[in-house]
Amino acid sequence: MIKTHILGYPRIGTNRELKIALESYWKNEIDLKTLEKIGKKIRVKNWITQYKAGLSYVTVGDFSYYDHVLNLTAMIGSIPKRFNHLEKSLVDINTYFHMARGCTRKGNPIYACEMTKFFDTNYHYIVPELEINKDFYLSNNNLFNEVKECQNLGLKPKVVLIGPLTYLWLAKSSINKLNFLPSLINVYSKILKKLEKQNVEWVQLDEPILVLDIPKIWKDSFERAYKNLSKKIKKLKIMIASYFGGLGKNLDMVLSLPIKNIHIDVVRAPQELNLIVEKFPDDKILSIGIIDGRNIWKANLKKILKKLKKINIVLKNRIWISSSCSLLHIPIDLNKEKNINKKILNWLSFAKQKIDEIVILSKCINNDLKNEKYIKDYTKAIESRKKCYMVNSKSVKERIKKIKKNYLIRNKSYLQRKFLQNKKLNLPLLPTTTIGSFPQTKIIRLARKKFKIGKISIETYEQIMRYQILFIIAKQKRYGIDMLVHGEPERNDMVEYFGENLKGFLFTNNGWVQSYGSRCVKPPIIYGDVERKNQITVRWIKYAQSISLKPVKGMLTGPVTILQWSFVRDDQPKEITCKQIALALRDEVKDLEKLGIKAIQIDEPALREGLPLNKKYYKYYLNWAISCFKISSAVVKDETQIHTHMCYSQFNDIIAYISEMDADVITIETARSNMNLLNAFKFFEYPNEIGPGIYDIHTRNVPSIEDMIFLIKKAAKSIPIDRIWVNPDCGLKTRKWKEVDYSLNNMVKAAYELRKIFNKKSS
Ligand code: GLN
Ligand code: ZN
Repeated sequence: MIKTHILGYPRIGTNRELKIALESYWKNEIDLKTLEKIGKKIRVKNWITQYKAGLSYVTVGDFSYYDHVLNLTAMIGSIPKRFNHLEKSLVDINTYFHMARGCTRKGNPIYACEMTKFFDTNYHYIVPELEINKDFYLSNNNLFNEVKECQNLGLKPKVVLIGPLTYLWLAKSSINKLNFLPSLINVYSKILKKLEKQNVEWVQLDEPILVLDIPKIWKDSFERAYKNLSKKIKKLKIMIASYFGGLGKNLDMVLSLPIKNIHIDVVRAPQELNLIVEKFPDDKILSIGIIDGRNIWKANLKKILKKLKKINIVLKNRIWISSSCSLLHIPIDLNKEKNINKKILNWLSFAKQKIDEIVILSKCINNDLKNEKYIKDYTKAIESRKKCYMVNSKSVKERIKKIKKNYLIRNKSYLQRKFLQNKKLNLPLLPTTTIGSFPQTKIIRLARKKFKIGKISIETYEQIMRYQILFIIAKQKRYGIDMLVHGEPERNDMVEYFGENLKGFLFTNNGWVQSYGSRCVKPPIIYGDVERKNQITVRWIKYAQSISLKPVKGMLTGPVTILQWSFVRDDQPKEITCKQIALALRDEVKDLEKLGIKAIQIDEPALREGLPLNKKYYKYYLNWAISCFKISSAVVKDETQIHTHMCYSQFNDIIAYISEMDADVITIETARSNMNLLNAFKFFEYPNEIGPGIYDIHTRNVPSIEDMIFLIKKAAKSIPIDRIWVNPDCGLKTRKWKEVDYSLNNMVKAAYELRKIFNKKSS
């Protein structure tokens, strides 16, 4: 039978057991032994699941108490000096958690290592820090112990590790990272030799950077590193796993590496498959990642089987069947879902179900008729999805066709609009505002919970929320803020709240996916054409505006962000789904304006993370993403002010596109980087108004008036003063009221002080 495997399995546990255990351990409620027992239980369960389903190998090394990149960092003893780790000694779990979460020593904070998104996923890894003059060494035996655990169960492990080049690529260092390669290869050799001694047959080295356009020197390093590694081993066989894209210009190099197995992502790069098969060397195995590890739909097994049969003949049984990438990025088990519509449920497949898909394909490749019948029936679900009335809305499809150029353009230019908006809004120089949310207090969370389980009526719930809005508006009046917000108390989450009010969205009970450490997210699933069920935000904003003389901003999550933070349909291009969301929001924007709302903010914090991994696709993505923003926003009259918000600071490379969004005001994250973002404006003059966040809401530190004056002055060097807004750098949802009171009072005072200076200058 053709061999099967997966690149990795979710580690959080079917009922988020690991999350619960970790958080209890951090609170000192359970001891290390208990934590380790729970960890082991999850690993064993995952292996048994893979074995029972019939995979040829079970994957070992994908488990982690926080992050698998950090696992490697700890394993090779690359501990930054500030954690006071004794050179060459064993790295224990507490040092491991300190690196992930920070700690204090004698009352002083020791900062955690940075955390960043793993490629284009919503999974965050802990960034390795490479310090000069430090050799890597084998500093713990966790991996080898896990191999033993697995073998003791009588199972055959395939071990996974992040590959050496990808590890370096993901790391940060003040010198050329490739300088660390020899020492790194040295420690990898030791690891591989140990695995060989344990009679492990395969090791999977994950090298997803192979789907990027890497510089030549990195390509050359691949050849050197893998030649070196393969020399050190005899029986152990290496598989290189590429995923999240095609091999592109790296293809020939990869095919020439002295390793035994190459894994490719056929879901993301189907167009490369034929070429690879044509060129594929006789001495290697091709692991075909054909079951989508990034989405939750049943695969079209009939179509896939046909393709695989052909390839198998050409490659003479030298193929393996696999998931496109690790299953870490999707929920674990569909059987846990009790409330999803039966018909829709039949279209879905989570991690556990995807394993079954892989196994059945391998059974059928050699013409097993009984199972082929199964595949035929299985594929019927896909047919039924195509035709289902829940998926298709004629009116939505018609509306998409009717989108015209004028949907995307405001009537007048920014300068003309500014004149009209000034007249209507009557704002001072350096107007103050906030990004939207205010602290989500216990009262708010409790009310939401009670409402969800039916303990309080909708009337009572909405009354509590209105009271919260009243409170939040009163607070802002007291601070003296110029443009107010309603505070978003009624929103559990900025995407879920909108999804719940849109047709075509569904929510799982238990579809958790690890985001980082113990944090999980439950992305909605977009299964059908999207339409607004009813007005979404209007009644809340109406209430907030009715109790304030100052303008209150309408507050919406943008179409790209809603798309980006959901599982999307695989039966139509992403941009079509995004356009549908954009049209639904366009209606909401129009309704807000009709109500007399003078400024509307459409948040797009996820716009940048949607950027494709490969630069050559940037333009295509940005074009449709920005069109969608405009479909939602350009519907308003010229005197209505459109705001947008983004929370990241690296956008030097996309700033020109951001300006094409033509929002009248953009608020952005800059406080964390000390206004470094403004470097982007040295080369590109942003034409509209900007609120460079001057208060870092991600920490508990409260900024002083002087701190904020300093930052505004710094901004005023690159942006004309009459185009600067004064605001925090993100929503205040996670802060405490005490901190917010202090910071916003200071923020308003800072603006007030500077107004005096600048107004004097101009008179
Ligand atoms: N308006 C949202 C808030 O303030 C924006 C959140 C975000 O940028 N992620 O919470
Ligand atoms: Zn933000």
